[in-house]
Amino acid sequence: MRLSQMHLKTLRETPAEAEVASHILLVRTGMIRKLVSGVYGFMPLGWRSIRKIEEIVREEMDAKGGQEIHMSAVQPAELWLESGRWYAYGPELWRLKDRNGRDFCLGPTHEEIFTDIVRNDISSYRQLPLNLYQIQTKYRDEARPRFGLMRSREFIMKDSYSFDKDFEGLDKSYNDMYDAYSRIYTRCGLNFRPVEADTGAIGGSNSHEFTALAEVGESEIAYCERCDMAATVERADVKDDPADSSQMLPMEEVYTPNTKTIEEVADFLGLDKKQTIKALLFVKYDELGEEDGYVAAFVRGDRELNMIKLVNALGLPEHAVAFADEEKMAAATGCVGGFTGPTGLHDCTIVVDSELVGMKNLCAGACKKDYHIKNVNYGRDYKGDIVRDIKTLKEGDPCPVCGAPVKHTRGIEVGQIFKLGTKYSEPMGAYYKDENQEDKVIVMGCYGIGITRTLAAIVEQHHDDSGIIWPVSVAPYHVIITLIAPDDTVQAAAAEKIYSRLTEAGIEVLLDDRRERPGVKFKDADLLGIPVRITVGRGAIDGSVEYKLRRETEKNDLSIEDAIQAAIQIVEKEKKGM
Ligand code: ATP
Ligand code: MG
Repeated sequence: MRLSQMHLKTLRETPAEAEVASHILLVRTGMIRKLVSGVYGFMPLGWRSIRKIEEIVREEMDAKGGQEIHMSAVQPAELWLESGRWYAYGPELWRLKDRNGRDFCLGPTHEEIFTDIVRNDISSYRQLPLNLYQIQTKYRDEARPRFGLMRSREFIMKDSYSFDKDFEGLDKSYNDMYDAYSRIYTRCGLNFRPVEADTGAIGGSNSHEFTALAEVGESEIAYCERCDMAATVERADVKDDPADSSQMLPMEEVYTPNTKTIEEVADFLGLDKKQTIKALLFVKYDELGEEDGYVAAFVRGDRELNMIKLVNALGLPEHAVAFADEEKMAAATGCVGGFTGPTGLHDCTIVVDSELVGMKNLCAGACKKDYHIKNVNYGRDYKGDIVRDIKTLKEGDPCPVCGAPVKHTRGIEVGQIFKLGTKYSEPMGAYYKDENQEDKVIVMGCYGIGITRTLAAIVEQHHDDSGIIWPVSVAPYHVIITLIAPDDTVQAAAAEKIYSRLTEAGIEVLLDDRRERPGVKFKDADLLGIPVRITVGRGAIDGSVEYKLRRETEKNDLSIEDAIQAAIQIVEKEKKGM
């Protein structure tokens, strides 16, 4: 491709709204173009890299026996009502009506659709296992679209669904996908880590997130350097501190004026935060979005509540639980803002962190303004409707597996895999007949890759101050020939020769034949991040060109032939990304 003819508009300036490197660079290189918030289009270079990622994904899915299909983005509400997700999915589901008032949504994911296909098409154990996938546009009306392709409202996802006779079959399908995902992200040049994850709105039992490590990532990961524990902070178990065997002391009300926070009350009474109980107050919403009761959650004063564990404990989707208006909740339950404790509350669901059960003589709010109660004990003084681990695993806390201090790091979730079991097949009636002609429920898994988010993650990990540094496997082009003086016949002939030789060898080449200053061309070549640059300038008359890799600072003067061979060699070696 000749740059003089390519539809390309690069920007010198950083777009005002772009905060992270990948967003800035994908916009500045003209690879993506915003239409409205969270909705992007792809220009020629951007689309080429997207297709490369898709091809890697296809190869690895096919290698595991996946069969590609393509379903509609428009999905009828009836299927979502059957699975129970029409309400549970909440405001992220992009709903629409047709002219007759019938409800539809734009698919955020396709479990219902694929389950529907299989329940109609599969009848015998002979047809299982089956793995179907698609690469398709998804819609999620995200509350805060941001970081360009990282969290958008329209994005491309590869989604696969596996269908097995039993749970052993599912284990194999899941492990196959785990392997395929590891190969895919390796081939895309990502430094990634698979971690245990919460199952969220998709559901099911086990799940792993594949996380590309990056400071700007929205996933927080807890991991252990001594054992192989690695989980999202949302998911990570926390070991309860050992129970305290002290004698229970009598409860004692104490005057604690203006001590609304745990810090304030602990300071005022000269206590460690570990000797206090922290209260967090929430309101629940029902399927129609109406308020549906209150929740008080209690953790030890030095702990932090884990919102995902709390909603899971309540058996509710995340959007159905929000911080309560304290005044309204006070009237209904007897809580008192800043002075709420587990004793003296009524008419609300009390969720108690499991650790509190073994703690003795803690200080909690008295549900009375300016008062706390000392020596509050679980069992004797209060009980939980639900008792569970609802706390967050913080950096430095003991690893739930081996006890060593855990570390935290951040990453971008580029994919997630789930053991769904019978979560969809059961309610939607996806059955098969086994060897004895008995009806059995199909066991499912589902597996997603954010194709567009993966592109952003690659840029996030592969750039410098001058621009992108594409891994060869996903680069929009492999080589850029920077022709310094297009009007110089010797230079032009040398550039054309290199261009055709490389193209014939199957290398994807950009020829910068624009009538621009050399400085502009070098800047653009660095910004676009094409892995190999061959500069054809004055040396051409002696058959010499400059050869440089984008990822290295070193430049070499090579003969035209040597430059061609060097380019072919490196592209052949790195094209597959393995
Ligand atoms: P997140 O927690 O980031 O909202 P999710 O867990 O809801 O993502 P999944 O349902 O697991 O996402 O979807 C599979 C993959 O699709 C994700 O791993 C991610 O790579 C991609 N993805 C999800 N939401 C978005 C989005 N809003 N924009 C771009 N990619 C997305
Ligand atoms: Mg996910």
